[in-house]
Amino acid sequence: MAEFTMELNDEQREVRDWLHGFAADVIRPAAAEWDEREETPWPVIQEAAKVGIYSLDFYAQQYFDPTGLGIPMAMEELFWGDAGIALSIVGTGLAAVGVLANGTEEQIGTWIPQMYGDQNDVKVAAFCSSEPDAGSDVASLRTRAVYDEAKDEWVINGTKTWATNGGIANVHVVVAVVDPELGSKGHASFIVPPGTPGLSQGQKFKKHGIRASHTAEVVLDHVRVPGSCLLGGKEKLDQRLARAREKAKASGGERVKNAAMATFEASRPAVGAMAVGTARAAYEVALDYAKTREQFGRPIIDNQGVAFQLADMRTRIDAARLLVWRASWMAVNGKPFTAAEGSMSKLFASETAKKVTAQAVQILGGNGYTREYPVERMHRDSAIYTIFEGTSEIQRLVIARTLSGMPIR
Ligand SMILES: Cc1cc2nc3c(=O)[nH]c(=O)nc-3n(C[C@H](O)[C@H](O)[C@H](O)COP(=O)(O)OP(=O)(O)OC[C@H]3O[C@@H](n4cnc5c(N)ncnc54)[C@H](O)[C@@H]3O)c2cc1C
Repeated sequence: MAEFTMELNDEQREVRDWLHGFAADVIRPAAAEWDEREETPWPVIQEAAKVGIYSLDFYAQQYFDPTGLGIPMAMEELFWGDAGIALSIVGTGLAAVGVLANGTEEQIGTWIPQMYGDQNDVKVAAFCSSEPDAGSDVASLRTRAVYDEAKDEWVINGTKTWATNGGIANVHVVVAVVDPELGSKGHASFIVPPGTPGLSQGQKFKKHGIRASHTAEVVLDHVRVPGSCLLGGKEKLDQRLARAREKAKASGGERVKNAAMATFEASRPAVGAMAVGTARAAYEVALDYAKTREQFGRPIIDNQGVAFQLADMRTRIDAARLLVWRASWMAVNGKPFTAAEGSMSKLFASETAKKVTAQAVQILGGNGYTREYPVERMHRDSAIYTIFEGTSEIQRLVIARTLSGMPIR
């Protein structure tokens, strides 16, 4: 039995310091420019590819850290650099995880390299689940995939929204309905290969924050993909659908309810770690500023009104990180989330980022409200954490249902 320790080991410290260096030297200096340009920062992604941060290998290594801290540590450092650029670097991972979780070995080997490209020709990938009428309510997706047996092809029609890298991705992973009677149990994921006719980018969103990350609608108009693009394969899908139909029959034919709300439990701590990174960045700027800015003949931190805010900010950030690390450790070690600990970590860390960045703006006064200082951007960026990968309300719903065993609405 390993000795209990709260200290990172040498290897983890080395990786953290390396990532911090990249975040400080490459990401942070580029942050304001790409926020204003509202474009994908391709040169920064390329730099990340050159040093090995933008690659499946890197994420796999972090993922297989047996303490579970590899991924949260990486997310915290990259998002400390800048949230928009960091999301452009890690966004492909969402689609890659979709393939890793559901794909066959052949699909993993074929598609994941095409998601990343190589360091001379970097590519990105998109995971497209959300739709205009299906955000929190994942079960009500409308995008339909129909099997054309004669050609062994799937025909996909629908409109996806809020897709990170949607339309600019080399590979899109699309979640679609294959059996409308089964709710979220009747969904399947498909690879849409590069250049497939019928897939186009709809509206590109102009956003409040994380503006260096591309977010857009993806329109699927009679998109035909080979049978081999169904993640996991047809046989597995047929077996899964048969089991779901049996269950639905046993429950009196009632449409299978949305179970998808709880399925992200293991991935939510990673989003919590992103929020910790942004919160920590804003706290550090505020601490420095409070020590150097003088009013009434003394540094503003001499006032308890300012110093106590900083004390609260740091306390919340450390508490958020501990919740994230606990949930990540549980996920890697296969511990059951009996109290929705993954959702807890995401809820607390994302709300912390919103609160701490707002406090940082306040501590910087007028300067905090301008784009001359980074806390203005960090405050705008932080708002995303309580929205994507399940809103704060959905996290509370998952936690409350898990704790009570009641169908709380
Ligand atoms: C920048 C950005 C990037 C994104 N990237 C991706 C991506 O790559 N791929 C992807 O598939 N999706 C992505 N999303 C979508 C994101 O996951 C959804 O926006 C999110 O799940 C919320 O859905 P919604 O926006 O439709 O809000 P809604 O579900 O309409 O919610 C609106 C409000 O109602 C509340 N609410 C809803 N239901 C309940 C309830 N039962 N109880 C209490 N309150 C409730 C919500 O908490 C929220 O406050 C992204 C979104 C953004 C903004």
